[in-house]
Amino acid sequence: MEALKKKILSDGTAIGTEIVKVDSSLNHQIDVAFLNEIGKEFARIFSDIEVTKIITIEASGIAIAAIAAQYFNNIPVVFAKKTESRNLDPDKYHSEVYSFTKQKTYPIMVSKKYISSEDKILIIDDFLANGKAALALKNLCEQAGASVQGIGIVIEKGFQKGGRLLREENHIRVESLAIIDSIDDGKITFRD
Ligand code: 5GP
Repeated sequence: MEALKKKILSDGTAIGTEIVKVDSSLNHQIDVAFLNEIGKEFARIFSDIEVTKIITIEASGIAIAAIAAQYFNNIPVVFAKKTESRNLDPDKYHSEVYSFTKQKTYPIMVSKKYISSEDKILIIDDFLANGKAALALKNLCEQAGASVQGIGIVIEKGFQKGGRLLREENHIRVESLAIIDSIDDGKITFRD
């Protein structure tokens, strides 16, 4: 998606050789008009599959998934929670994610009420790095007996192993709107 690549180049910040932040539109401040374009693009790419629910992970995934859902006939969005709290339904599916940005493992949880074996799920997230968050979301869906139809990623970092892990080892359809091939001295290079 050319507009996304331009946005990453104009607003993105590279941290070292592995992390990118797009705080002005995706990861802190939300550019709603731009997320609408991203939502439309996901709907266009996945127009060949039936989706009954979008699943994502808090926090940055929520806005992207919620805006995208409007282009999938306003299907519900469920976000996995990362922290236990008294108001979270005790009857829940649970998985674990190793976060490469935080360098620690954290739990993710979804109430059993919100995923069922009838669901055809599209997973959406902002970044794909090593694939741990996406695999844990897939695992939650599988615990419910739901089928994962695909994964939509805004920015895939192609130099990390998530894309290969999901596509080749787990045979999941992954569609990324922009793929970064390298970050070198602050310079971001995209895959064509
Ligand atoms: P993975 O589980 O694929 O290793 O990492 C994906 C998750 O970590 C995403 O949910 C995303 O929020 C976060 N993440 C991974 N790499 C980056 C990055 O370069 N920038 C930002 N902002 N988040 C990242």
